Amino acid sequence: MNAPDTPVPAPMPHVLNTYGRLPLALSHGRGCWVWDTQGKRYLDGLGGIAVNTLGHAHPKLVPALQDQVAKLIHCSNYYEVPLQEQLGAKLCELSGLSGAFFCNSGLEANEAAIKIARKFGHDKGIEKPAIIVYEKAFHGRSIATLSATGNPKVQAGFGPLVEGFVRVPLNDLAAVEEVARSNPNVVAVFLEVIQGEGGINQSRNEYLQGLRALCDRQDWLLMLDEVQCGIGRTGKWFAHQWAGIRPDVMPLAKGLGSGVPIGAVVVGPKAVNVLGPGNHGTTFGGNPLAMRAGVETLRIMEEDGLLANAEAMGRVLLDALQTGLADQVASGGVVEFRGAGLMIGIELARPCGVLLGRAAEAGLMISVTADRVVRLLPPLVINADEARQIAAILVPLIQGFLAEAP
Ligand SMILES: *Cc1c(COP(=O)(O)O)cnc(C)c1O
Repeated sequence: MNAPDTPVPAPMPHVLNTYGRLPLALSHGRGCWVWDTQGKRYLDGLGGIAVNTLGHAHPKLVPALQDQVAKLIHCSNYYEVPLQEQLGAKLCELSGLSGAFFCNSGLEANEAAIKIARKFGHDKGIEKPAIIVYEKAFHGRSIATLSATGNPKVQAGFGPLVEGFVRVPLNDLAAVEEVARSNPNVVAVFLEVIQGEGGINQSRNEYLQGLRALCDRQDWLLMLDEVQCGIGRTGKWFAHQWAGIRPDVMPLAKGLGSGVPIGAVVVGPKAVNVLGPGNHGTTFGGNPLAMRAGVETLRIMEEDGLLANAEAMGRVLLDALQTGLADQVASGGVVEFRGAGLMIGIELARPCGVLLGRAAEAGLMISVTADRVVRLLPPLVINADEARQIAAILVPLIQGFLAEAP
């Protein structure tokens, strides 16, 4: 027995204790299924947090990556990387934008976006540029991106925060118009089209259209963080396309490489010439392996019709969840279903972090975010049978949880 003040040894003593991890380790996967080191099988409702677009060990992706590893993994940005041009051209074709900068993660893509916004401001004589950001937003854990994040838990202990952010609530155009009237230093509006970590909160189409018009009028950049909701997850390539608008700056990451680390910031005509040689850089960013993963992910998504699949399977999954949990909606235990396509949040009436471990025990991987929101982000290769199985495992877990005394 440990005395109360004796620290319990970490299960991985040589890895910093930055995550409350479940006591299981995964060894391999196939499609929407993964196996742990004990041989137990799990249905993947999480996709490595919206990363494993093509599921695990996709039969078209694996040989392409093997081919690239055997040719060239890394070469530095001192030289032309034709695969960067190839992926940049594809992202521009899909988004209607003009050019891309490649990096390695979501926070790096957002960091680049923030630098673009600031330089855009300085270029037009604004010495202290400010960026409008959002309550409940999540943009990453670097000092600048955690400052842009609207979650005190992410910021606690890391002050002083970076200045130059003005915070507003989501879907309130009047609040942004008020900032426009009172703050001449604003250069950009920066938001997730669907807030992920903040609990699957959607910006309304009319709101995005209103922001687009306001940004045009004010000569601001509209910067849409599609790190989690982009790359086909909602049934369109990018979630903002449902609103029929285009951003000026669009950070991407998570699903773009199907598991290979990658980030990108894609920009339109208003921002394409803001950065020049020497303004920004990264050693690993845009390396041939990551670029090949991006090129092949997008190609396979097109070949296999995964946008249509995400939309259709999202509906199957949501229908099964709504049907199974109808009584809990009626009794108030389930507050709301939110999301689009294969980005689904189920808000419960009370904190439910315990469901993560219970789901794993039952052979299902999920996440719980914003304390009370069960979040599903399965691979886009999921089929209807698997989508129904997710609901079949999850519904009784939620029912059982809600039946317990709080
Ligand atoms: C995950 C996430 C990030 C941060 O990405 P990392 O790769 O973890 O740095 C930024 N923005 C959004 C919307 C995200 O979901």
